[in-house]
Amino acid sequence: MHDILKKPFRLHNTIQHYKWGPTPPDAFIPQLLGIDGEKNTNYAELWIGAHPSAPSKIKIEDDLVPLNDLIHRFPDLILGKYVAGRFNNSLPFLFKVLSAAEVLSIQTHPTKGQAELLHKTEPRHYPDTNHKPEIAIALDSLTALAGFATYYQCHKTVLHYPEIAGFLGRDALSDLFPLRKLSRKQQSEQLRQMYQTFIHLTQTKPGLYQRSVNALARRLRSKQLRRSRRENLFLDALEKYGSSDVGLFSLFLLRMITLKAGEAIAISPGIPHAYIKGNIIECMANSDNVVRAGLTKKFQDTHTLMTILDYTPNPIQIISPVQTDNGYEYPVFTPEFKISRSELAKGSQTYQTGKQIEIILVTKGAGTLKWNSVKQSEIIKKGYSFIIPGILDNYTIHSEKPMTIFRVQIPLF
Ligand SMILES: [Zn+2]
Repeated sequence: MHDILKKPFRLHNTIQHYKWGPTPPDAFIPQLLGIDGEKNTNYAELWIGAHPSAPSKIKIEDDLVPLNDLIHRFPDLILGKYVAGRFNNSLPFLFKVLSAAEVLSIQTHPTKGQAELLHKTEPRHYPDTNHKPEIAIALDSLTALAGFATYYQCHKTVLHYPEIAGFLGRDALSDLFPLRKLSRKQQSEQLRQMYQTFIHLTQTKPGLYQRSVNALARRLRSKQLRRSRRENLFLDALEKYGSSDVGLFSLFLLRMITLKAGEAIAISPGIPHAYIKGNIIECMANSDNVVRAGLTKKFQDTHTLMTILDYTPNPIQIISPVQTDNGYEYPVFTPEFKISRSELAKGSQTYQTGKQIEIILVTKGAGTLKWNSVKQSEIIKKGYSFIIPGILDNYTIHSEKPMTIFRVQIPLF
């Protein structure tokens, strides 16, 4: 078995057809994979990894074997000894291509401690004990909501939208936005108060919330002026999720950011976020623990949400990767994964694995993947992904056309 496993394996990955994904001919994932997408089918995510609900598969002799099974049978050979020992014989990350045509649900992730507690008390909604640090790298561009807007921006918002101000109520507003200068700490405290008041009111006065939402919608629809992107998102989401969704007003309280190709954001625990539009590479710790905050029909746990949200204004920095000899490295901020992007001109490049598992994905170009002192080779091209098992020390990519390759490894610390 040892010898059979000593080679890179091409991965056969699962496509997730969530409703917010684009449909052909505009869908990115079929274009990346070089397949004809099916008409009227949403292409939202491509999952590359060993997650038990949709593991990638590899071909061994004539069988398609799920990657999680293979890892389970040969953890040291596939993961490498360090990873197998540190992460309990499992692949610690999930790698994805995500393609959003419309806004996803607003969500936030728990810390490890919070996830352990949530899983213990409500395993049905919190399926594992893990945290979910996540990085999103724009392939073309990405628009997203990430973190709360600043205290002053939120104040402007309530002044600008009388329907939101009216819902919060005059008394609450004078407490939330006092006419004096506030320290940064006081500002996030006020934001916390504001959001808690808002969520509390959506629970205690659902009728008033729906009326306020509908009033804003009516006014925006009748407006002669051009609507902002946020206002259009609000109207679309209202149609989809109905007027009681707490995300509808939250949309106006979060910060909207746009990333250019290659730029990234890292989402730490407690940060509310929702991707709106764009094609991205995403990598996260292998976990399904999300706490939803609206724009969804799925289970919402507002009580938990209140306890884990981070109210630091503008907490997200847009990351530009660090340039290296043949590409770019993204900062390492969690033990489960690190990600880099190689930009190869024509020629050969050898990569050392450090005897740990790697996953690579080609998003541009074509060439050959060589191993075993370049005596063996396989075609590699746009849309192809491979695992490099831990028993392989190194591999070489010879590019015939300029290539872009995303490489996920596990940091050694
Ligand atoms: Zn997320």
